[in-house]
Amino acid sequence: MSWIENRFEEGLIVTSLDFVINWGRKNSIWPMTFGLACCAIEMMAVGASRFDLDRFGAGAFRATPRQADLMIVAGTVNYKMASRVKRLYQQMPDPKYVIAMGACTVGGGPYFKYGYNVVKGVDLIVPVDVYVPGCPPRPEALMEGIMRLQDKIAAQTIGMPKGTRAAAKRKRD
Ligand code: SF4
Repeated sequence: MSWIENRFEEGLIVTSLDFVINWGRKNSIWPMTFGLACCAIEMMAVGASRFDLDRFGAGAFRATPRQADLMIVAGTVNYKMASRVKRLYQQMPDPKYVIAMGACTVGGGPYFKYGYNVVKGVDLIVPVDVYVPGCPPRPEALMEGIMRLQDKIAAQTIGMPKGTRAAAKRKRD
């Protein structure tokens, strides 16, 4: 979609395009198969039949970052793993999103005080869109997080803020 993004200012046409593009994006989220510790077990439960993440269009977990647009960081991020998390994020195509699942990922969790090897929040490494606290969060909590991410995607725009195009033209001239 990069060919169309930031080509128009916000307005009627962009608003209509936004609706269609965001509708497609939010209903076809492709998470990456990626678990770090115990929280990942709950993430797997979300993808299985009882909770059925497919209802939200987000059940097709991909085994490569190049086919994924959502990274659910589920579990303890230690310093040894941090560079790998960042590299995987960088390998995902835009637009991409991150959910921090569980107390460890959100802020170090039970390892906050004495976990010398644990990163105290994955947002120190990659930008986080939605935080899902809990140790571990239940599958329903992760589903709620995915719905909040869908809300966020629905509010995105491909347009530039009003006045930006004219300002850019003035600067060029
Ligand atoms: Fe395990 Fe709790 Fe950390 Fe999740 S938040 S990875 S359940 S210790």
